[in-house]
Amino acid sequence: MRSLAIVGGAGRMGQAMAAGLGEREGLRVAALVSPSEPERLHGARWVTSLAQLEAGEVDAVVDFSTPAGVRDSAHWCREQRVPLVVGTTGLTEAERSALARCAGVTGVVVAANFSIGAVLAERFASLAAPYFDRAEIVELHHDHKVDAPSGTSLATAEALAAARAAAGRPELDDPTTRFTLESARGARGPGGVRIHSVRLAGLVAHQEVIFGGPGEGLTIRHDSYDRSSFVAGVALALDRVREDSGLIEGIASLLD
Ligand code: NAD
Repeated sequence: MRSLAIVGGAGRMGQAMAAGLGEREGLRVAALVSPSEPERLHGARWVTSLAQLEAGEVDAVVDFSTPAGVRDSAHWCREQRVPLVVGTTGLTEAERSALARCAGVTGVVVAANFSIGAVLAERFASLAAPYFDRAEIVELHHDHKVDAPSGTSLATAEALAAARAAAGRPELDDPTTRFTLESARGARGPGGVRIHSVRLAGLVAHQEVIFGGPGEGLTIRHDSYDRSSFVAGVALALDRVREDSGLIEGIASLLD
């Protein structure tokens, strides 16, 4: 049985992780680490800092907090030689080098998207990219999302561009020459891939990659319906992260 501490345990993702990981065989959520009291403890105890844990109390740390929280987690995990799985986004160079230093003494997995379906959708889209003349991305999210386009759509466009370039295919151009409304063709992403952002109440996180060629089309769509969609990817990372596994970026390599 591996005991976990969840940093950011009172947050939306922390609570979803405590609920989801706590139900998985071989895992136990021992501590929720957060400055504010968690709404639900899920059988764990609440601490405000990793420093309050007893030596050996946890076997791994999962972090869905803030960049400052990640710095503290990296420091503590390095000192205690405890493996660390980080899902917090918006990391700067300071957090990235703290994670690299931590990975020198214990395993670290850091990923901006722990949804296995989203990672597979990007892989399938990369596979298709060289074989179609045109590709566009439509990403759809809830109306509280502050940034557009989504980080996942940009990463997907980069993957499509790289797959096309590797196959000797040119950057995508836009056939449109007359605009009745400005920006009707979305934004020009990496490799000329057009990205269209939709924001509506009721949506969670969804993405379609639409390919077109002579006489045929292919749509690869992924839907995250709620935060439980990230639990399996974190469980996979926990399964693979060990004291000697170094730094693993993204979970794509864990799916091979
Ligand atoms: P949230 O604001 O609901 O939760 C963050 C929690 O962290 C809060 O409870 C806050 O009190 C706590 N916190 C702040 N500073 C802390 C510190 N120093 N130590 C410990 N806890 C601290 O946010 P959220 O929606 O749960 O998202 C958390 C992070 O996860 C964000 O960066 C988000 O982008 C990311 N995220 C990643 C994935 C993924 O697949 N990698 C998926 C969804 C969200």
